[in-house]
Amino acid sequence: MAWYDFNSSTPMPVIAPKIRGFICITSHPDGCAANVQSQIDYVKAQPALQNPAKKVLVIGSSTGYGLASRIVTSFGGGASTIGVFFEKPGNERKPGSAGWYNSVAFEKAADKEGIYAKSFNGDAFSHDMKKQVIEAIKQDLGQIDMVVYSLASPRRTDPDSGETHNSCLKPIGDTYTNKTLNTDKAEVDSVSIEPASEQEVADTVKVMGGEDWKYWISALDEAGALADGFKAVAYSYIGPEMTWPIYTNGTIGAAKKDIDQTAADLCTKYGENTAVVSINKALVTQASSAIPVVPLYISLLYKVMKEKGTHEGCIEQMQRLFATYYGDGSAEMDELGRVRVDDWEMDADVQAEVDKLWQSVNTENLKELSDFNGYQDEFLRLFGFGLDGVDYTADVDPSIGVPSIG
Ligand code: NAD
Repeated sequence: MAWYDFNSSTPMPVIAPKIRGFICITSHPDGCAANVQSQIDYVKAQPALQNPAKKVLVIGSSTGYGLASRIVTSFGGGASTIGVFFEKPGNERKPGSAGWYNSVAFEKAADKEGIYAKSFNGDAFSHDMKKQVIEAIKQDLGQIDMVVYSLASPRRTDPDSGETHNSCLKPIGDTYTNKTLNTDKAEVDSVSIEPASEQEVADTVKVMGGEDWKYWISALDEAGALADGFKAVAYSYIGPEMTWPIYTNGTIGAAKKDIDQTAADLCTKYGENTAVVSINKALVTQASSAIPVVPLYISLLYKVMKEKGTHEGCIEQMQRLFATYYGDGSAEMDELGRVRVDDWEMDADVQAEVDKLWQSVNTENLKELSDFNGYQDEFLRLFGFGLDGVDYTADVDPSIGVPSIG
């Protein structure tokens, strides 16, 4: 039996959540597996995808939207997938990251059904990672017909200059002040964020913009690893005006505009409709919980959308993207040619209600006006805690892995 001592001097035979600000530094292997399985079950209960891609590369495949994309294409379309992520395996003394356990669970489930899956754990921004992935594609799959780009990273080391750039979440031009949620203390505070410098804007574009997406496509193309008529998709967010200063008109929004431009450039080079940006719904993920203001907005949004019966998680969103945009062609599109699976979030009634709640929410009425409990439950589930059917008092092996993760 393994004994872990994460919280105190008393050894514990279990892994418990240990939250530090907006991340949880422990994760539960069985809980992550249950989370992945519930997403697989959801997809298998939907009609099979029409016109599915058969060989898919997912960059950022271990958590959030990338993991959901991998599950939908594999279990809804029968695709062979290669996944790339940056996660920590566990060892006898310490649990690994949730994305590691998610990927182990995904690979085991795919293997059980005879679906090809291979993963690479390392820096997607590096030349070396691109080389390894291309070798695997050429050896195992020949060519791929879809590239999903779902990276969310705080930093990127430029593979040519060796310089490391850090992204930041700041407004551009003016200081932004609004309500925010201290998720640790369940308190509604005010936050003021100073505008980014020009360098910070450029650095954020370097990390979260389209350059690396373009590098991946060029490297795959040059190696002959892209099938004729291949498709590429990257994910973005717009949200309501109240968050625009920190998101759409802020540093991250500048990076997302660069992603839009990259999609247009890829279409010019490889053909109309080759690349598309999908605007997804605001959801609790490891990436979004780090953005000021957004967790409070998400807590109010969940309340309204759950009451209206239109709430979706990553898996429902990605099922809808692949079934409509790539499937029956019924997806909502905007004037810039982006897919809008955020349409239910941006529905005028939903936004009017969220806006009304936003005006009156405070620490005292937080749990009544918002779905803060739902936010917290979902946050914990990201790390494998709070899943039905998991015995959190049982001994677990944090050092699990599978040979198909390189
Ligand atoms: P996430 O944090 O859940 O997933 C990020 C993924 O990127 C993980 O698989 C992680 O391992 C991988 N990654 C990070 N750095 C890496 C590196 N250097 N090399 C290899 N892999 C690396 O994030 P998410 O919320 O699913 O975001 C994915 C995309 O969706 C982002 O472009 C984000 O802007 C977009 N999006 C998110 C939301 C939201 O509310 N969460 C809404 C709309 C769009």
